[in-house]
Amino acid sequence: MKYIGAHTSASGGVFNAVENASKIGAKAFALFTKNQKRWDAKALDAKTIDKWFKALETHNMSAKQILPHDSYLINLGHPELEKLEKSRMAFIDELQRCEILGLDRLNFHPGSHLEKLNKKQKEDLDLIEKIEKKSLDVVVESINIALDKTSGVSAVIENTAGQGSNLGYKFEHLGYIINGVEDKSRVGVCIDTCHMFTAGYDIRTKETYEKTMEEFDKIVGFKYLKGMHINDSKPPLGSRVDRHHSLGLGEIGLDAFKFIMNDKRIDEVPMVLETIDETIWDKEIELLYSMIETKDN
Ligand SMILES: [Zn+2]
Ligand SMILES: [Zn+2]
Repeated sequence: MKYIGAHTSASGGVFNAVENASKIGAKAFALFTKNQKRWDAKALDAKTIDKWFKALETHNMSAKQILPHDSYLINLGHPELEKLEKSRMAFIDELQRCEILGLDRLNFHPGSHLEKLNKKQKEDLDLIEKIEKKSLDVVVESINIALDKTSGVSAVIENTAGQGSNLGYKFEHLGYIINGVEDKSRVGVCIDTCHMFTAGYDIRTKETYEKTMEEFDKIVGFKYLKGMHINDSKPPLGSRVDRHHSLGLGEIGLDAFKFIMNDKRIDEVPMVLETIDETIWDKEIELLYSMIETKDN
């Protein structure tokens, strides 16, 4: 079964994300459970929680179809202790909000090392690997602390485009983090197709798609796949720039999405559009469903 949807607006209350998803024919959705641009958030009140569960029931949605996303401010690999602490506290709060909403996974970007490197240093691959490893260790520690203080919700690491000092653009980064997480039953990954492509993983032909996915399986493992972000890309392959585009209008093109829609390894996870024109999300969802070739999917 493929659960396809979009990152819908929770403006006015988290329950609105469910309503907005259902309006566009989505069978999956992502949402922010608080304002993603602010550190602080009001606790979820009883009325909101009640409306949330009623909306899920009305629209026949369950946790496995929902991929909440954390705040963009959080950096679990922050090099400064005070800011790292702030991020860790906020991340724990996000996991707890998911718990309250009966959700079983939280999508987040691994973090950034924030080192300012000059041109020469940027070409020193050994140095970069060292800096990244140090920060990845901090991310691992952050996840272990957060999982220890919460229950029932998995930490779902998203691959990134590798813009700036962002970690997570290599499958090896994701594998490294998973390897360090103590409770493997509560860690997973989300593949963002735009990020994967601009990080340098081609998926435009059957051959390149299979090669990339085999690499993913070897280094990370499909058993850890807990969600997908379905986006085309404005920048080209390997550009390390994060700019999404509507399906078929970017550098990836529609074939890649056909391969994904017919890939049995990617069943039973929320597949979420983060494409740039939300007025056509209903059509994009329809398009993706129409790409599925086998009846039983
Ligand atoms: Zn994404
Ligand atoms: Zn992105």
